[in-house]
Amino acid sequence: MKAHNFNAGPCVLPKPVIESAIEAIKNFDNTGIGVLEISHRSPGWERIMEETEALWRELLQIPDNYRVIFLGGGASTQFYTIAANLLGKKAAYLQTGVWAKKAIKEAKLYGEVEIVASSEEKNYTYIPKGYNVPLDADYLHITTNNTIYGTEIKEDFDCPIMLVADMSSDIMSRPIDVAKYGLIYGGAQKNVGPAGVTFVIIREDILGKVDRTLPTMVDYRTHIKESSMFNTPPVFPIFVMHETLKWIKELGGLKEMNRINSEKAELLYSEIDRNPMFTGTAEKADRSIMNICFVMSESYKEKEADFMAFAKSRGMIGIKGHRSVGGFRASLYNACPLESVQALVDCMRTFEQENI
Ligand SMILES: *Cc1c(COP(=O)(O)O)cnc(C)c1O
Repeated sequence: MKAHNFNAGPCVLPKPVIESAIEAIKNFDNTGIGVLEISHRSPGWERIMEETEALWRELLQIPDNYRVIFLGGGASTQFYTIAANLLGKKAAYLQTGVWAKKAIKEAKLYGEVEIVASSEEKNYTYIPKGYNVPLDADYLHITTNNTIYGTEIKEDFDCPIMLVADMSSDIMSRPIDVAKYGLIYGGAQKNVGPAGVTFVIIREDILGKVDRTLPTMVDYRTHIKESSMFNTPPVFPIFVMHETLKWIKELGGLKEMNRINSEKAELLYSEIDRNPMFTGTAEKADRSIMNICFVMSESYKEKEADFMAFAKSRGMIGIKGHRSVGGFRASLYNACPLESVQALVDCMRTFEQENI
């Protein structure tokens, strides 16, 4: 039976990327030794680092006054690193889920935090709109895609103050206007690689404006100056990211990625909306094209465990919803093929036919 991987992260990677990673573990760049064993100061590796940054710049059309760095520690480490580097007195945060809430908690260690709006009262099923952005804040932090709740800010909006975005779960799913942001960051393990590497895209002029003394590793300038090689970078995750970005480029780049992703999301959402047994949990206008959350409709609540078992028997992996939402969540990241989404939809249809 074919496995269809809908895990939320770490998640499915493109098949050719896996093949190339296996090869590189055995023999990297014709050196006779594997990528897990090479020196990160070897010329072959330096080329991978340069190409990886170049692929980021090319795919996202990153302007010259931005730098891209690759770090360890996951997006969660950035929650405090961002505040340490950028929060002088006050920062603004949009609270659209638990990841945003965790970022808020860390920012509070460095100064005042104003929560401009929160959708917590409705279990984060929508993206708040029409809030005021305090002009005296150093930045507004947003989470563009709320992995757990399946909501997404799909447009790069104009913000009167610097915009900082956690794009962990929708980076490279569509073209973005990087110039609208001061800083963009995320863990690679959803759309650009395996767990273990974090990307940070920073406009250079925003740094060096806070008074506090920063530990060397926390100061973004350290990693910019040393091109992410101040200390040993996460070599293998970066290699897999390099291969993943090459795969995205070969597919046609982010416009094409977005076309494919929209088609997959549309396929599943229309089944959720058509099938009387299922109901989507996110407000329609704010639906994510990456993480699709749904539950059994009120009259079929008792069928939840049955559907889970049925889906499992047909090869569906990772469709259990996050414990704070319940029900189901299918993550349709870049590497999730259309045929997997079709298999899930077929599964929902068959379940309907067998149960109604
Ligand atoms: C997964 C995720 C995180 C946490 O990433 P780690 O790399 O595990 O720290 C943060 N924000 C969002 C939106 C996520 O989806």
